[in-house]
Amino acid sequence: MVAPGGQGLWQPRGSGLLVAVVGLSVVALVVHGAIALLLLHGTVRPPVAADRPVGRPTPTATTPKPTTTPAPTSPPPSTGTPGSAAPAAAGALHLDHACLVADNPPTSAHIPSGDPFGSDLSHLGSGAELQRLYDVHSGTLEPADAAGPVRECDRRLWAIVVAATPVEVLEYVDELLVFDADVSAGTAVGEVFAQPNSTEASAHWRLSLALNNSTDLDVTFNVAHEVGHLLSLNRAEMTGQDESSCQGIFMGEGCLKDRATLATYIDDTWGDDVLDEWSTADDLTDDQQQADAFDAFYEKHHDQFVDAYAATHPVEDFAESFAMWCALGPSSPLLPDFIEGDPTDGAAKLAWFDDPSHAVGLQARARREALQAFTR
Ligand SMILES: [Zn+2]
Repeated sequence: MVAPGGQGLWQPRGSGLLVAVVGLSVVALVVHGAIALLLLHGTVRPPVAADRPVGRPTPTATTPKPTTTPAPTSPPPSTGTPGSAAPAAAGALHLDHACLVADNPPTSAHIPSGDPFGSDLSHLGSGAELQRLYDVHSGTLEPADAAGPVRECDRRLWAIVVAATPVEVLEYVDELLVFDADVSAGTAVGEVFAQPNSTEASAHWRLSLALNNSTDLDVTFNVAHEVGHLLSLNRAEMTGQDESSCQGIFMGEGCLKDRATLATYIDDTWGDDVLDEWSTADDLTDDQQQADAFDAFYEKHHDQFVDAYAATHPVEDFAESFAMWCALGPSSPLLPDFIEGDPTDGAAKLAWFDDPSHAVGLQARARREALQAFTR
């Protein structure tokens, strides 16, 4: 498989309420002057009720790839939010519990032949069941699966996505795929998938989300995680160069600009030694050895990550930290249920998004107000 894609599992903790999963793809990192190619793909760990997750996303294909500062106790004042129109009113966000049942009945939905993202859903985990597929046109959903009008549950899910996503980033979302995750099998509950075989893969994305067996908070966190990927991997973050001409960090979706959000985040929050340690673990080809190495890596550096999943990859670290910052915020009383290890773990990562020199935080600030009002 040459298309970027994949997912990981975000594990329940504390209350045991959450089994969220997240997705991402193919990245490359500059490590000590060399371009380290790696693939983050595939995943699916069984859900566990323990405070600390086990396992990690497992690479399934070979495609080119890449101190704590006290967290503020209250959100900084809103300032200009470049490019961000006002999000949907918080009061408009609502998910009926009927949308969150453990198992939805099958639908007649099918992915049309010729869909640029393909019809293979295996990367969403075994047992993933297509519920609906929508094209996104001008920010609204249009059924693409010959299965009737937009469902109310999906309309409400989309309202959360819209509320969470800056308009200039939402433009990169071509499709919304709603599926039922096989939670008992640890199936993914969210993924972003860059269009394969496109000259501008980073400009075209399918967002896949599962609502089944979730809470409002699960859904919000999952959406925020995937939005974190979209914020950091979209076309505006890329130079347009191919891998051979990329002078910096090459991802499956393209070559990151010098001052790209993700490049800056990695540069600011991953020291060379930690990145090198992680890269050594990531290079292991034996799945069990790699899982053990990642467990050991997280144990050693847990204070630098919001949770174990964040420690599995810099791209996931960005998305997971962003989701924590966006859906919950550093002052949320729910945070201890999400943060694994010490409650201050990952505080520097959350604070990074509050730094006014990082545009992504300004871009997303108004969004998070809407999300946090919804999950409060
Ligand atoms: Zn992810």
